[in-house]
Amino acid sequence: MARLPGYKRTGVVSVRELRKSGGVPSPARLRKGPVVLVECVEKIPCNPCAYACPRNAITIDGELTDLPKVDFDSCNGCRLCIAKCPGLAIFVVDHGFSRTHAAVTMPYEMLPRPVKGQRVAGLDRSGRRVCSAKVVRVLDTKAMDRCAVVTVAVPKKFWNRVRSIRVPKEG
Ligand code: SF4
Ligand code: SF4
Repeated sequence: MARLPGYKRTGVVSVRELRKSGGVPSPARLRKGPVVLVECVEKIPCNPCAYACPRNAITIDGELTDLPKVDFDSCNGCRLCIAKCPGLAIFVVDHGFSRTHAAVTMPYEMLPRPVKGQRVAGLDRSGRRVCSAKVVRVLDTKAMDRCAVVTVAVPKKFWNRVRSIRVPKEG
């Protein structure tokens, strides 16, 4: 019997699997400016990402179940595609956000929403705390269908680890 992929056994996709799927930009592209990461490794019938990008940087060729392909050189990191993905699988990283920090932009469906300037916990793909993160931008409009798009600043070394946040409870 064929061995199940690692993410099916653990429930968490690894960086190695993400690189293999083609959703992670090269170090050279990361250095050029903000860029998308598409963390979609499961062949499911889904394609809103293929219609979300005004620059056609994300495409799905062939079957509806094929994985999205990313043209990282066409992406300018505009973040428009993030809220369109029902799988919450699209992120944008600005590795050059500051000398010490990268900016990670992610979908966020939970309440309460974070607010700009707030300190939150940066979490990894399995929900474990990685570091403290500072909220630098929150986009949350009616057109986004209940999915906010949140940008946090994290120490550069965590650019490919922080993929979610935990907002502290008030009071
Ligand atoms: S971040 Fe903007 S340019 Fe890049 S893939 Fe998404 S919608 Fe396209
Ligand atoms: S919209 Fe999201 S879940 Fe659906 S194929 Fe695209 S990246 Fe994958």
